[in-house]
Parts: sequence; structure tokens; C-alpha cells
Amino acid sequence: MKVVIIGAGLGGLTFGACAAGDGHEVILIDKNKEPGGVLTLARQDGFSFEQGPLALTDLGPEESVGSFLESLGIHLETVRADRGLVTPDFALLPPEEYEGPAWRKKRLKALFPQDAAGIDEYYRFYEALMHLRFLGGQNFINRLKMLFAFRKIKKYENMSCRAFTEKLFSDERLRLVFNGILADFCADPDEVQCFTLPFVNPETGFEKRIPAEKNGRLFYPSFRYVVGGCQKIAEALCNYILAHGGQFLPETVAEKVLIEDGKAVGVRLSDGRELSADAVVGCGAARDFFTDLVGLEHLDETYRKILNSFRPMEAVFMLHLGVDYDPSVYQKQSLCYYYGSYDLHGAVQRLRSGVYHEGKDGYLIYFPDRHAPDFAPEGCHCVTIYTVCPDRLKEGSWAERKKVYADQLICLAEKYLPGLSEHIVTRKIMTAEDYRELTHMKKSSFGGVVPVWKQQNPPHVTPVRNLFFVGQQSENGGGVPAVIGGARDAYRKWTT
Ligand SMILES: Cc1cc2nc3c(=O)[nH]c(=O)nc-3n(C[C@H](O)[C@H](O)[C@H](O)COP(=O)(O)OP(=O)(O)OC[C@H]3O[C@@H](n4cnc5c(N)ncnc54)[C@H](O)[C@@H]3O)c2cc1C
Repeated sequence: MKVVIIGAGLGGLTFGACAAGDGHEVILIDKNKEPGGVLTLARQDGFSFEQGPLALTDLGPEESVGSFLESLGIHLETVRADRGLVTPDFALLPPEEYEGPAWRKKRLKALFPQDAAGIDEYYRFYEALMHLRFLGGQNFINRLKMLFAFRKIKKYENMSCRAFTEKLFSDERLRLVFNGILADFCADPDEVQCFTLPFVNPETGFEKRIPAEKNGRLFYPSFRYVVGGCQKIAEALCNYILAHGGQFLPETVAEKVLIEDGKAVGVRLSDGRELSADAVVGCGAARDFFTDLVGLEHLDETYRKILNSFRPMEAVFMLHLGVDYDPSVYQKQSLCYYYGSYDLHGAVQRLRSGVYHEGKDGYLIYFPDRHAPDFAPEGCHCVTIYTVCPDRLKEGSWAERKKVYADQLICLAEKYLPGLSEHIVTRKIMTAEDYRELTHMKKSSFGGVVPVWKQQNPPHVTPVRNLFFVGQQSENGGGVPAVIGGARDAYRKWTT
């Protein structure tokens, strides 16, 4: 059968690789020159920078993404990753000498003795959820064990992250340690279920020396960098599709999904060409795709309702710097979060109303060339500083404001990377407008959908027969493992 896939991001590439591997004819279309969507690199003056994901979970050989890639014969070299966390009042950075898996717990108790009981309770909750994840419900015995394990945390099942952390911790600074990462997803702690917290804060993600195994079996998730950068995943998947007879049409825009008698039968391109197909796969911005390419009249009431109600994330403001000194002298880890405010609710509301915090609410600093030395010319290094930001500014435009905002970020980052401004040899700014262009979206939403509790996101199977929707704005949500896993599910739904 012939499948036309609109968008060579990770979702489209994964669907395409599954289909090509099974002998289907695959045509992959993308408006960009290279496959990968946000995984493609930004290049300037001999430097390369990552525009999308940094550290990934599930990449290990026994984990979902790693084993899927291995099954296609794709072997990626990866290294364990962790991240530091710095607030205006304290820093949680891995000690030079490994102090065991519980050093963060001990340090938090020393910082917040009045909340020691709550900290103990959090870590019991954390272990219970990790245990549930490990059991996974694959067989009857495990499902029984899960029921037993679930009893330990059932009392929290109706609590949001805000309610849960307020119950456990009296100090708002401690609440930030666990809720802070939600700001990365543009999510208010009030709208996310508390069971999410351990998975977005695995202790292994803050200390790479914590073993991922327990009793000889893989137990905890771990974060990894792809050596050479994440675009290697996209390149490998695209090469796999080509090696299995598929085609990649770069710099090609799909304008319309052709539908006859409620069934997708092909795609019209912006140059007027029409490609026939037995199935069509779309991705990218769900509202753009179904409004402009499909036509809302082809959807049923339920699908239209989901499209109207789901919440995509906002954008990122990313500043890439090529520097002629080694900044890792000052920041030991490749990735560190610097928070500037404890008011996450306020930060998210401001973001949604178009007010940019200009780095004051927080930013992160990342050194991509630590695991991709080719990204910087000899003697130089790469520094990426970024923040979440509104897709559209309430006042002014990104084009007008970007230089001022970039200067402000450099100024803030100099507190932790002294001398930064004197060592910049090149700089590249990525605003929401640039991300809209890169991803072909009218509203940039960098990580897909906000993980709002009970929110339904656009399903893979659409009301149009043989039309599927994948990627970070589909039912699986954003993030590399979710997008890959979701596209594999969508492929199974097509073929079964
Ligand atoms: C800054 C940033 C940091 C991130 N950090 C992480 C992280 O640390 N860990 C993690 O797991 N995930 C992270 N993510 C999220 C993850 O990268 C994404 O969820 C995932 O890569 C999205 O894949 P996708 O296929 O849905 O979409 P995209 O990458 O957006 O690809 C969609 C592609 O479709 C093309 N397209 C769309 N419509 C058309 C059309 N009509 N015609 C032709 N082409 C079209 C676009 O040009 C684009 O190339 C991050 C993302 C960003 C941007």
C-alpha cells in the first residue's frame, strides 16, 4: 500500500520507518531541506546548535526508543545525562564525589528541616510510582502487584501538583524543586495531576551516577544525550526509509488532503501536483492541519470538540552562542536550570497572556558540544540559553524585541558564566517566529500539548478513513519517546 506522510518530524519519520520496513510504499513530504523538524540543527559560522530536544529518556537498549531503533538496525551512541537546579536561594548540584542515590533528599532535609516529614513522604510516593511504572501491567501477576502498590498512593489520586506539594511542604521554595519543571511545559501546577511529578523529576535525571537498575533489573528511567546530537535519530530514520524504497520530498509543502467519500485518497502540493495514496498521515499543528488541509466539515462533532478544547504549549526564545572560551569551567553539567521566581502560577498566566518575563522567571543554560564536539570549531564551544515565552507578544513583535531580549539573557547568564559577553564570536537567535517557520505552524508550541489533567488531545485515528494524525499535538503528547511511541501505535492502528 502507498502512504503519503505530511511532515518529516519524528512522528512522520517513525510512521514512515514502520511502514517502509513492512514493505509499504512511503512518500515523506517536508517543507524543510532536511528531515527532523525541530531535531534539525541550526548552523552558523562553523558552529552547530540543537534547536529541539536536549536530554532524552527511554534511549537505553532495553527501553522503548532504544529498542525500537535497534530493531531497525539503528545503533546510536548515548551518554547518561543529568541536570542541575539553581534557585535564588540555593543550588542542587551533584557533589563532586558521588554521595549515593539519596543525596538530594538529605540536602533538602538540611535546607528545609521543618518539612522533613513531607520530604520523606514525597520519596515514598516517588518510589511507589516508580514501582508501578516498573510493573507496567504486562501480565496478570504484575497487574495484581500493581493493585497492591497503587493502594499506597491512592489517597493522592485526585490531587493536582499544587495541592499535593502544598500538603507536603510548607515552604514555597521546596515546592518549586518539584513543580518547577512544569513551567517548561507551560503548565500551571493546578492543572496537572500529582502522579506526573515523579516522572518529570526522576532522581536519575538530577544525578547520572544513580544506577537505573534495581535488583539487577532496569527500574528507573534515565536521561541520555545522543552523542553527536539528536538530529542523528532523524537522519537514521530517514536513511532507513530511503533504504527501504521510500522517498523524501524536501522543500515541498502539502496544501490539501484529498478526500473522497469520507476516505483520504491523496495529497495536493502547493505547486499543484497531486499524489495519490491509500493512506495519509499528518502531523504538526493539529488545528492548522484539520482546518486548512483537511477541512472541518470532514470531522465529526467529537473530534471538532477535542480540536477546540486541547491546549498547545507556548514557544521558546533560544539564544545560541559560539564562544572562544570554555564555559564548563563555571557550569560543570551540560544542562542547568536557573529559576528566578517561585510563583509558577503567575509565571504561567503571564506567559499565556503574552507577557514575556525576559529571563527573570528563569532560563536554562546548555552546552551541546559536550557530547557533540564537532559542533564547535577547535578552541571554541557552544552555549545555548533559553526560556519559555509567549508565541505572540502582547506588545511589540519578536523581530523588534529579539536583540534586546538576547542581550538581557546574556547579562543574566553572566552571573553564572563570568566573562561570557567578552567571548562571543557568533550568536543566533531563535524566536517564536523562527519556530513557526521551522515547524510550519501558525502558533509555535515547542513541546506539543500542555499535560493538562484529563485533557483529550487529537486522536491518531480520525473520522476520515485512512487519515491518521501523529506527532506532538496528537493523543500521545510531546517529547521524543511519546512521539515515537505514538507514531508506532498509529501505524499499528492502520495495519490492524
Ligand atoms: C526547544 C525544544 C526542546 C525540547 N526538549 C525536549 C527534551 O528535552 N526531551 C524530549 O523528549 N523532547 C523535547 N522536545 C520535544 C520534541 O522534540 C518534540 O515533541 C518532537 O520532536 C516533535 O516531533 P513532531 O514530529 O511532532 O513535530 P516537528 O518536529 O514539529 O515536525 C513537524 C514537521 O512537519 C513539517 N510540516 C508540517 N506541516 C507541513 C506541511 N503542510 N507541508 C510540509 N511539511 C509540513 C514541518 O516543517 C516539520 O518539519 C523539545 C522541543 C523543542 C522545540
